[in-house]
Amino acid sequence: MAIVPLSELLGQPVASAFLRGVVARGRYSNAYLFHGPAGVGKTTAALAFARAILCERTPKGPRESAPGAAADEACGRCAACHKSAGLKHPDLRFLFPVSGEERDLDETVAETLEEVRRDPLFVFRYEKAASIRLSLTRELLRELAYQPFEAAVRVVVVRDADRMREDQYSALLKTLEEPGSATVWVLTSSRPARLPATIRSRCQRVRFAPLAEGVVREFLEVRVGATPSEARLATALAAGNLGRALLLRDEEPRAERDEALRLLEPALRGDSPGLWRVAQQFMKYGKTGRERLRRMIELHELWLRDVLRIQAGAATDALANRDRESELRSQARGLGAREIRRRLMVLEEALRSIEGNVTPDLTLFSAMARMSGSGLGAGEWPAHPTARWDY
Ligand SMILES: [Zn+2]
Repeated sequence: MAIVPLSELLGQPVASAFLRGVVARGRYSNAYLFHGPAGVGKTTAALAFARAILCERTPKGPRESAPGAAADEACGRCAACHKSAGLKHPDLRFLFPVSGEERDLDETVAETLEEVRRDPLFVFRYEKAASIRLSLTRELLRELAYQPFEAAVRVVVVRDADRMREDQYSALLKTLEEPGSATVWVLTSSRPARLPATIRSRCQRVRFAPLAEGVVREFLEVRVGATPSEARLATALAAGNLGRALLLRDEEPRAERDEALRLLEPALRGDSPGLWRVAQQFMKYGKTGRERLRRMIELHELWLRDVLRIQAGAATDALANRDRESELRSQARGLGAREIRRRLMVLEEALRSIEGNVTPDLTLFSAMARMSGSGLGAGEWPAHPTARWDY
C-alpha cells in the first residue's frame, strides 16, 4: 500500500483538508468513521492519519499548537514515522477482515501485512464471509488497558469495520465510551449503515467522495503505466473504484473485452451447441469465477453504452471502447435504441442471476441467447428462475 501523506490523498480534497486541520490542532476525538464508496482510498487515508497522529513533530494537545505554523501531517523523517510507515509502530494497530481457518490466522495476517508493506499498489480482496476476527479484537482490547508504548496515544485502524459481530461491537462501544482514553479509533466502511447506530453516533464522521473517472484513468496511466486504451476500459469497468481498477489492470481488459464480445458470436449464428461449449468454460464458480463472469457481462454493457453514446453524439474521447470505434459506429447505425435497451435489460438480469445461485453456464447461455434475439435454445434449457420473456 502506498505511503501517501494526508496532503496527497487522491481525489479527496475535502477529507484531506479536514484531517489536516484535526492534526494541526492536535486534539483528537475518540473515534472517527471514514465512510464512502469502496476503493476510493479510505484505508490509505486512515493509515496516513494514524502516521500523522503518531509523528513526533505534530502537535499533541492544544497547548503545544502554535497558530498557523503547526505541522498538519506526518513529517516522514522522525523515528515514529519510520516505524509507522512500515506498520511496525507499537502504538499503531491495524485490523482488517480475514477469512480462512482460525489456526492459520496469525500466518494469514502476517502475510497480508507483508504484502501491504511491500506492494505500493496493494489492494485488499477477500471473500464475502471474511470478518474482523474475534480473537484479534480480544487481544487488542486487553492491550488497551495499558498505556501506549511510545506515543501519547495509540491508534487503532479498523478496515471494513462493518464486518464484526454483535459482541465485538459491544466491547468496542465500551472502550469508545471510556473518558480520557489514550486510544484513537479510525474505522473505515463502505457500508456504514451496517454498523450499529450506537457506534456510528460516537464517531466523528469523515466522508470520502467517489473518484472521478479522469482521476482513476490518470492514476492508471501515470502511476501504473497502463496504456491509454487499457486504462480507459479498466476505469469504465471499475466505475470510480480505484481498488477495482488496480485489480483489473492485471486482467488485460482489452483481451477480456474481445473475449466477452466473442461469446455472442455462436448465439448470433444460431449455433446452440457452440454456445453451450463456450458457456461451459465458466463452470468454475467460486469467487474468481463469479467475478470473471460478472466482468464478461459488464463488458457487454459498456459496449452497448458506447453504442448509445455514439447515437447521442458523444465525443470519441467518451468511449470506453475507443480502440474499436469503427465497429461501434457501424452498430450504432444498425441498432435501434429500443433494441439496445432490451439487450441492456437482458444483461442486468444476468448480473442479478450471478448474485443469486444460478449456475454460470446457464446464466451465460441464457444471456447470450436472449441478447442475440434469435430465440436460440428456447425449450432446450430449464426455465429461468426469474424468467422475464417480456423483453
Ligand atoms: Zn514524523
